[in-house]
Amino acid sequence: MKKIVISAAALALATTNFMATAQQNFNYNVDRFADIEVLRYQVPGFEQLTLKQKELVYYLTEAALQGRDILFDQNGKYNLAIRTTLENIYTSYKGDKNSKDFKGLEKYLKQVWFANGIHHHYSMDKFVPDFSAKFFATEAKKLGKKRLPLAKGQSVDAFIDEIVPVIFDPKVMAKRVNQADGVDLILTSACNLYDGVTQQEVEDYYAKLKDPNDPTPVSYGLNSRLVKENGLIAEQVYKIGGLYSPAIEKICAWLQKASQVAENAEMKAYIDKLVEFYATGSLKAFDEYSILWAEETKSDIDFVNGFIESYGDPLGMTGTWESLVNFKNKQSSVRTQLISDNAQWFEDNSPVEGRFKKDKVKGVSAKVITAAILAGDCYPSTPIGINLPNANWIRAAHGSKSVTLENITDAYDKAAQGNGFNEEFVYSDYERGLMKQYGSLADNLHTDLHECLGHGSGKLLPGVDPDALKEHGSTLEETRADLFALYYLADAKLVELGILPNAEAYKAEYYKYVMNGLMTQLTRIEPGKDIEEAHMRNRHIITQWAYEKGKADNVIEFVKRDGNTYLRINNYEKLRKLFGELLAEVQRIKSTGDYAAGKSMVEQYGVKFDKALHAEVLARYSKLDIAPYKGFVNPRYTAVTDAAGNITDVKIDYTEGYVEQMMRYSKDYSTLAR
Ligand code: ZN
Repeated sequence: MKKIVISAAALALATTNFMATAQQNFNYNVDRFADIEVLRYQVPGFEQLTLKQKELVYYLTEAALQGRDILFDQNGKYNLAIRTTLENIYTSYKGDKNSKDFKGLEKYLKQVWFANGIHHHYSMDKFVPDFSAKFFATEAKKLGKKRLPLAKGQSVDAFIDEIVPVIFDPKVMAKRVNQADGVDLILTSACNLYDGVTQQEVEDYYAKLKDPNDPTPVSYGLNSRLVKENGLIAEQVYKIGGLYSPAIEKICAWLQKASQVAENAEMKAYIDKLVEFYATGSLKAFDEYSILWAEETKSDIDFVNGFIESYGDPLGMTGTWESLVNFKNKQSSVRTQLISDNAQWFEDNSPVEGRFKKDKVKGVSAKVITAAILAGDCYPSTPIGINLPNANWIRAAHGSKSVTLENITDAYDKAAQGNGFNEEFVYSDYERGLMKQYGSLADNLHTDLHECLGHGSGKLLPGVDPDALKEHGSTLEETRADLFALYYLADAKLVELGILPNAEAYKAEYYKYVMNGLMTQLTRIEPGKDIEEAHMRNRHIITQWAYEKGKADNVIEFVKRDGNTYLRINNYEKLRKLFGELLAEVQRIKSTGDYAAGKSMVEQYGVKFDKALHAEVLARYSKLDIAPYKGFVNPRYTAVTDAAGNITDVKIDYTEGYVEQMMRYSKDYSTLAR
């Protein structure tokens, strides 16, 4: 639960930061469809890596791409069959390519690629196709036995009868991850992490495995699918020889090559341990890997490859597969180094109760990185900051690594320039000026503080179950980390350390955060729906709470002008105090495992919002024609080899389009598709 995603406002905000080593006149905008814009990012500094480092990056990027099919299958059990069928229709279609049906199929296929399945990556709702079931059935039939991903012994007609309702019936598999209150979350979620089991059965199964007194518990359920076989509950483990074996074998083959050119012995040790985890499925091996990984901080190159985040599981246990390969941005890492060097000071001076603070903050290692490839659940939609490992006891005893993906935030900024968003929603030139001058720095700093201090701060009281907040755990954890960041953004310490230039700069992020939480993030919600996603709930909790608690002093004000609503912050100092108060309360909820208080906070402040304001924001936003969601294509890496097969160089190329990339990945990295 340690992932930060970019906010709607940040997506749209243009700022003036630029990277010295980046190419000018780079084409950031790649494709546009539905509610999505696909961008491209640069990898500045890649050329300056040593040959051995380039070789290492190359092997790790191959290991990253080999896992793509795993995520498709985890997200829904028909996803791979649907992807293959659509791709085959798309490439072999002989009819009118401007027809409504073909255009609809093309858009749908682009959406499926983007979401790694048939449900929206963010809202979790099933896509509504703009082409007819009849068109699909006719074209699928034309593909015939050979080009359809039929199950063993399945006829073409049976296949089509099975798939059509999955794509076209809105009632079938309606939501990938259901978080609605009062229903069986497992039975009502379409993700493929469980099959044939009820929520009660899942909870009972894991309750039996868990020892509440174990100080170093493994992450139960992290790498398995829970199913019922012959009336008995069984865990199908993701491992070599188990579930997803063909993909995992390929991942391991590339990791073993990477191990040979690891930057140091510690890195080699964690790569080898990761391979052991994939080979055995042992969660204990995964914890050992996580410790080795968290403690290795000397190398420039680093990567994540595994079953990591559990947002895709309605109960927050099973990790969806992801990979990110990166190297250190040394220039910008000076900033995060300063923050992490002062981690204990931040912990000691936070507004939370003393008994919830860590006496000793362990090894918060923070750096700014350059992403070299995004894969699995980091692709095409990607986080801008990551803090791992997730296991609380490992974080407490061995520290964690926190990273900010600056080449990604830079690409977002560049792609957004001149889109009219600030002019439409920001109250006045004063706030626009703040954002122009400090927006990029304050935003990156928010991410740094959130990741390297926020998630790592505080402690649970002895005996408190880390999962005590259950379905609200992710939301409240993000709330806590954001509040820690917001509180300290306004602290004189940051100016004293030379991280922020003056006592005004933080206001750029405060304004943006409040505007986003209360107004502009609503652009991501369809009329009539509630806020569901954890990060969006967290932002609404913080801003709605501060708005209500600050009402008497008019701290945050909704102002009407020419029929439009704007936000104005009248008292920044008071707002900071409110953030501190809420941080203390959210930390109390987490430290004591106060489920009832957590639930009521989420329900009271995080879910509902003003419908009239929502309608207004949607109308104003739609005029700007900005895609609410963005993601990235990867660069393409090619190894140059000599006659003996040794790598002599690795070339990086930025010319691949979205469709081209997806079709290439489906061709070259189809490990699980039938
Ligand atoms: Zn986070």
